[in-house]
Amino acid sequence: MALKTANEFLDTIKKMKPRVYIGGKWVKNLLDNPVTRSMVMANAAMYGLAEDPANKEVMVATSHLTGEPINRNLNVARNIHDLDMRQEMALLTSQTVGTCNYRCVGCDALNSLAATTWEMDRDLGTKYNERFNKWLAYAQANDLAVSGAITDAKGDRRKRPTQQDEIDVFVHLVEKRDDGIVVSGIKVSQSGAIGSHETLVLPGGALKEGEEQFALAFVVQNSVPGLTYVCQYNAYSAEREMCGDESELGNPIYGQRETSTMIFDKVFIPWDRVFLCGETKFCGKMVTRFAKAHRMNCGGACKVGFADLIIGGTMLAAEYIGVEKVPHIQEKIIDMVRLSETSHACAIAAAMRGREEPKGSGVYLPDDLFGNAAKLNIAHGFWEIIKNAGDIGGGLVVTMPRLKDLDDPEVGPALKKAFSAAAPAAKRLKVAKFLQHWSAGLHGPGTWHGAGAPQTQRFMFTVLTDFEKKKKMAKKLMGMTEE
Ligand SMILES: Cc1cc2nc3c(=O)[nH]c(=O)nc-3n(C[C@H](O)[C@H](O)[C@H](O)COP(=O)(O)OP(=O)(O)OC[C@H]3O[C@@H](n4cnc5c(N)ncnc54)[C@H](O)[C@@H]3O)c2cc1C
Repeated sequence: MALKTANEFLDTIKKMKPRVYIGGKWVKNLLDNPVTRSMVMANAAMYGLAEDPANKEVMVATSHLTGEPINRNLNVARNIHDLDMRQEMALLTSQTVGTCNYRCVGCDALNSLAATTWEMDRDLGTKYNERFNKWLAYAQANDLAVSGAITDAKGDRRKRPTQQDEIDVFVHLVEKRDDGIVVSGIKVSQSGAIGSHETLVLPGGALKEGEEQFALAFVVQNSVPGLTYVCQYNAYSAEREMCGDESELGNPIYGQRETSTMIFDKVFIPWDRVFLCGETKFCGKMVTRFAKAHRMNCGGACKVGFADLIIGGTMLAAEYIGVEKVPHIQEKIIDMVRLSETSHACAIAAAMRGREEPKGSGVYLPDDLFGNAAKLNIAHGFWEIIKNAGDIGGGLVVTMPRLKDLDDPEVGPALKKAFSAAAPAAKRLKVAKFLQHWSAGLHGPGTWHGAGAPQTQRFMFTVLTDFEKKKKMAKKLMGMTEE
């Protein structure tokens, strides 16, 4: 069975018993807690999308290992079309759930692993690629939801992993045994790890000789002994827990972007699940290849899907107060479209200019420069987009009462008078709550940092841009001769 239905996925989640802590409580069942349920439902929606024949080209791929149809989230891109469909999947999934699709980091991590383990086997004579392919075939056959853990807690950013006061701020090797390895350490900001079947763990950055104990890539099952997830907790979590009626919320079913801190305390990983152990030279490549894929998808196309939703909500807000034809409103909407479509164009360009890397591996990765452009453009553009949503939505976006208050026998009639405009009060408040979720929620910093803080993309521009060539072009046109 290579493709699971949404219901089959939910059945598997009911059987899992991860050690999950949220807002002062341990979660016994992910589907009982309203916050963890929103994350699981978004993941289930990904299975639902793949079930729909209308989405087949985007959501379903063919396994290069078995020839079977598989969820594209488990596909290794083998050509330009795969890359293009991958970024289209990021767009479609965001448009559908208005939050993280929770399989994106895992998908980009497995593409990096496919390329880098192949290269390690070629150069070092290891068997990592063989192991990785065996695991991948199993993941594909069982249509596993796989998240990706790259970001270490990192501690003092000025220091190398070996110089930190507390070694656990980086995931590290504790013991090498005949049957596998034992690892400890902490990964932070892990999207959807609690409700995924497995998590691919990659090194958090390039490593040097002497840092071998941090050079680890492996896959870990949810619910293994020693693994604890501490979920993010904020005003949106509290509101979801306390509201009593989720239809009141800005994103009723799927919620905000849910992440957790993953704490590894002497977790055992069998050798057949270890894909890099001590080879520091390949950590930089592994992370860079992940980033190439992730900046096109999470950094670029995914946020374009969010922008589509925000633009739709903002237009409704304008219509509901009768300003949709006013020139400055139309101009602001067009600016929102300009910013988001520019990022989509960069994501498409990253796919179209993608290439096999390393040569002979059969793995295709997106173009670095365009992927970084997609991410950096939307990181800045997203603030502008949510600013315009806040502008057009009016103060109501943050000053509104509860939607349910409209039905209160005492205050309801006055509220209906207050908030009726070119549309009834209930419609206005519903849209205001939707825009609150985007513009006054977690999405601004989430978009800024997801797929890497923008300074890393700026750095990549300095590495990838041939400035000398540009200077030469300018000199030639000016008629300046070379000294
Ligand atoms: C919503 C969301 C979902 C995420 N999902 C995942 C996920 O599923 N998996 C995963 O692995 N990660 C995930 N991340 C983590 C994301 O990749 C990181 O947030 C991002 O890489 C930035 O790292 P940081 O948060 O540790 O910020 P920091 O590294 O603390 O950066 C803070 C600031 O310090 C600067 N800075 C940091 N180090 C240095 C330095 N050495 N020199 C100069 N300046 C420096 C940065 O440029 C930035 O301005 C997610 C993040 C968010 C917000």
